[in-house]
Amino acid sequence: MRDKPIPYGRQHITDEDVAAVVETLRSDYLTQGPKIKEFEDKFASYVGTKYAVAVNNATAGLHIAAKALGVGPGQRVIVTPITFAASANCIKYCGGDVEFCDIDPDTFLMDSSRLRSILESNPKGTFAGIVIVDFAGYPHNLEEFRQIADEFGLWIIEDACHAPGAWWTDSQGRKQLTGNSLWADCTVFSFHPVKHIATGEGGMVTTDNPDLYQKLELYRTHGITRDPNLLTHNDGGWYYEMQELGFNYRLTDIQAALGISQLSRADAGIARRQEIARRYDRGLANLPMVKTPFRADDILHAFHLYVIQVPDRKALYDFLRSEGILAQVHYAPVHLMPYYRRDGWKDGDLPVAENYYRHCLSLPMFPTLTDEEQDYVIEKIHEFFNHPAGT
Ligand SMILES: *Cc1c(COP(=O)(O)O)cnc(C)c1O
Repeated sequence: MRDKPIPYGRQHITDEDVAAVVETLRSDYLTQGPKIKEFEDKFASYVGTKYAVAVNNATAGLHIAAKALGVGPGQRVIVTPITFAASANCIKYCGGDVEFCDIDPDTFLMDSSRLRSILESNPKGTFAGIVIVDFAGYPHNLEEFRQIADEFGLWIIEDACHAPGAWWTDSQGRKQLTGNSLWADCTVFSFHPVKHIATGEGGMVTTDNPDLYQKLELYRTHGITRDPNLLTHNDGGWYYEMQELGFNYRLTDIQAALGISQLSRADAGIARRQEIARRYDRGLANLPMVKTPFRADDILHAFHLYVIQVPDRKALYDFLRSEGILAQVHYAPVHLMPYYRRDGWKDGDLPVAENYYRHCLSLPMFPTLTDEEQDYVIEKIHEFFNHPAGT
């Protein structure tokens, strides 16, 4: 047992991060100041999109994305079940209904052929959109999903909370950065401390659609605008209008300052995550009971999570805990949560997702994980399977 348990994920805060936050604390603006726009602009250029809207967390980002896309009562949206509940809840917040679509057994992303069969077995117009999730950091091939979406008149929200910095390759051989807005209508990122970029709480929505951008900005701040071009009339310099029923979903300047500083190290973090993934791939390769993540050459996996599959997941989870390794499970399928069961979802509805859940375990994966810590994790997994490491 180690003095200090190894978590599955952890933020990396440097002296530069601390200095950036302190500087903002001493500035004129703690919120609604210049750091927000700076963070948005830098993030937009990092993922290669036109517009980025900073929000106080990704759940709020998903909510205003769904609202901006017009989700309301009577609308049905198709969502992947292997995700954090917020990916589906955003539809419910707007009064819409959620249909879950089973996952691909290799990538654990929404299965495009299952999606197509759901769409084809319902009258056209049944569904308004889809929420897909770049699970664990594996980026969706959005060309394929855009084609299906266009065929059936759907919008796409991409929940990329696991995948800032990831890319995939289109049929022309071009690299497509996650969140570049060429394919999805809105892409949502999270800055929770276990994610790639940490601001405490925080999130970002990207789009290249000016109408959506305008709506996202309105919904983030009470539905209020001061933009002279948008006002119905103008009483003077003080005047603003509340044009929609919006929320207070703003990020603070303190958090944006931390985000800017963190963003400057994002690529280094991704590179380190690749290294850790390769070391796990190698270290676990000779254990027949352990299935390591599916790998492909034409994508950059952002490796928010490194998920293995094992026959007896609970026993391995408990063993690793007892040895000071806080492996985690991502995720219990959302359709089997008591709240969604009330809509009629039940065991057996989505067999691939449910089978995935029985076997999955996320190993420690974060840039400051040391080789020594990782070797310890690998060694303990070998020990569990009664198989000395390196043989
Ligand atoms: C973390 C996460 C969220 C929610 O992010 P918050 O910033 O905590 O609201 C949503 N979707 C997925 C897939 C996530 O991993």
